[in-house]
Amino acid sequence: MTRALYLQDSYLKACSAKVTLVLEGNGIALDQTVFYPTGGGQPCDTGRLIRGGEEFPVVSVAKAGGEIIHRTAKAGLQAGDEVQCAIDWERRYRLMRMHTAGHVLSAIMYKEAGILITGNQLGVDKTRFDFSMENFDRAAFELLVDEANRQIARNLPVEISFLPRDEAMKIEGAVKLASALPPEIKELRMVRIGDLDYQADGGTHVRNTGEIGKIVFLSAENKGRSNRRITYGLEP
Ligand SMILES: [Zn+2]
Repeated sequence: MTRALYLQDSYLKACSAKVTLVLEGNGIALDQTVFYPTGGGQPCDTGRLIRGGEEFPVVSVAKAGGEIIHRTAKAGLQAGDEVQCAIDWERRYRLMRMHTAGHVLSAIMYKEAGILITGNQLGVDKTRFDFSMENFDRAAFELLVDEANRQIARNLPVEISFLPRDEAMKIEGAVKLASALPPEIKELRMVRIGDLDYQADGGTHVRNTGEIGKIVFLSAENKGRSNRRITYGLEP
């Protein structure tokens, strides 16, 4: 099992680690890592593993079983090697801001208009939300974005905690995809954004909504009769 340090502290940019396993295709498992693996709509981190002075660029990171597998651009790492992990911080920090922004916006969409997000994909430059809505009104949606930006400007604290699974399940709306939770997971990581949002979530977040800046509504499209897709970016 890889210890996922980003679950406790999203601001860790580097750590030391030991290579525990090397898979075919330069797949590297470590005893602990700061690299976020693709999941929950959030893209993985990139960066590098460093052994001595030698760098092994990390091109993708994914979960496999209990392990987090780092794909390196070149071969050479071996089980037992001591390495330094370093993530591309600019990319990660942008994704953290995007992720917390997504929670604020979806909380407002639900509170103000009863809209439930059915799919999402975070990106460095833009993020998309899918949801169903019979009559989509662009102007009305812009008001929701304005309200999300007002909430962001309140500088709400973002707090991470861990709750026993059955306690988390009792909190209304906190566990969005209960059916997707493997039964062996006994404890859930909870993300609370001030008085606005509280949910089980494995992603990386900023500490305060003030770090997000401002959400910018980019586009809206129809993916079907009532299936909408919107994209947003961040300013600056
Ligand atoms: Zn999330």
